Amino acid sequence: MGRSVCVITFGCQMNCRDSEEMEAALEDCGHRIVPEGEADVAIVNSCSVREEAERKATNCLRRLVAKKRANGDFLVGVAGCMAQRLGEELFRSVPGLDFVLGTGNFHRVAEVLGQVEDGEGPLLLLEERGPYGRSGRRRGVFRPLAHVSITTGCPMRCSYCIVPKVRGPFRSRPMGDILEEIAALAAGGTKEVILLGQIVNRYGFREFPSSDGKSPFVRLLEKVHEINGIERIRFLSPHPCGFREDLLNCFLRLPKLCHGVHLPIQSGSDRILRAMGRGYGREGALGILRRLREIMPDCALSTDLIVGFPGETEEDFQKTEKLFDEIDFDMAYLFQFSPRSGTPAAERPDRLPADVVAERHRRLLARLAVTSLRRNELFVGTVQFALAEGFSRKDPAVLVGHTQQGKKIFFRAPPEAVGTIVPVSVTGASVAALTGELA
Ligand code: SF4
Repeated sequence: MGRSVCVITFGCQMNCRDSEEMEAALEDCGHRIVPEGEADVAIVNSCSVREEAERKATNCLRRLVAKKRANGDFLVGVAGCMAQRLGEELFRSVPGLDFVLGTGNFHRVAEVLGQVEDGEGPLLLLEERGPYGRSGRRRGVFRPLAHVSITTGCPMRCSYCIVPKVRGPFRSRPMGDILEEIAALAAGGTKEVILLGQIVNRYGFREFPSSDGKSPFVRLLEKVHEINGIERIRFLSPHPCGFREDLLNCFLRLPKLCHGVHLPIQSGSDRILRAMGRGYGREGALGILRRLREIMPDCALSTDLIVGFPGETEEDFQKTEKLFDEIDFDMAYLFQFSPRSGTPAAERPDRLPADVVAERHRRLLARLAVTSLRRNELFVGTVQFALAEGFSRKDPAVLVGHTQQGKKIFFRAPPEAVGTIVPVSVTGASVAALTGELA
């Protein structure tokens, strides 16, 4: 008889997609996916990108394992990046854990659950996955928007990053598999797809040749653009390396390609970018962002920035701060440096005091609040097309969705508008979102 399973996800969009793959594999084997309160099996899909992410996942596991005292049949497992990084060690730090599933084994979750139920636990499964092909989807789930993984792993070696270690070698899915998955999504009512990867614009650079001056990624975008039913295309996250004219040109040729680009820059100092091993310089990255705004003045630009990288001087930091003078960022993820053991940056002796890092973080947050509001206010008085994704938690008469630029928007509209793209007159703006009325 199937179990009632809840999957709790920490981390990035890739993790959310992997969680759905696990849920689909479990449903295919007769298990039910339920909220935590109804579950007798709990699986945490974990993240390792920062210490804080691992602490949260570990605390969550300990809380779940404690439920075993009340219900001896309750099973707890962990999957994802932290599982891959810590492996066996997790059975010591979280006594009572039933299984640990690495990043190459999401598709085997039902098999492992079966083995644990047969008394073969606790189980550890870390080995590499084979060729990177299809990943399951839950049936009967309505998705106005869907994330589609196109690569796994990362070919870069940024000195602070644990991803290449926990996500394995860089691999790209066969183009046919991706197009088939998106065609099926479109048939199911999906209007928008987000192509996912650690650095999506490097898709296929090992597997498929460039042709006519177009990278495999650009050729994939063109193919996705031809799929009927798909009205919007986004990708997450590109890298400045490999973001060339052929990709920039797509924004002029492919109208379904959305006017919103998230380009992680990480620092404004060339000295720090070299220490991070990012492979590009400040002007190279800024050049791409300026070009995007030139091609699309309404383009929403966002980035990732790390403050407090070991050895970062006040002068280095000011170069990061000055990025906000060069580019009006619509949004940014601002992180304080978090040493990841096993990475070169974690071994550096020149770490900065926590209060200095926190103060720099505050200064960037303040800059961001100004540019985000300024950018959002530009949309007041305009009509924007919003994909209605669902209902506001605060007011069921208000729908929530996002514009073509990727901006969150709340607006009054009939419930049947959910799942469609509708014109909205923008009447208000805050740092985080727009508000409006159906036009
Ligand atoms: S590009 Fe760098 S920061 Fe991004 S996932 Fe790869 S190694 Fe990590």
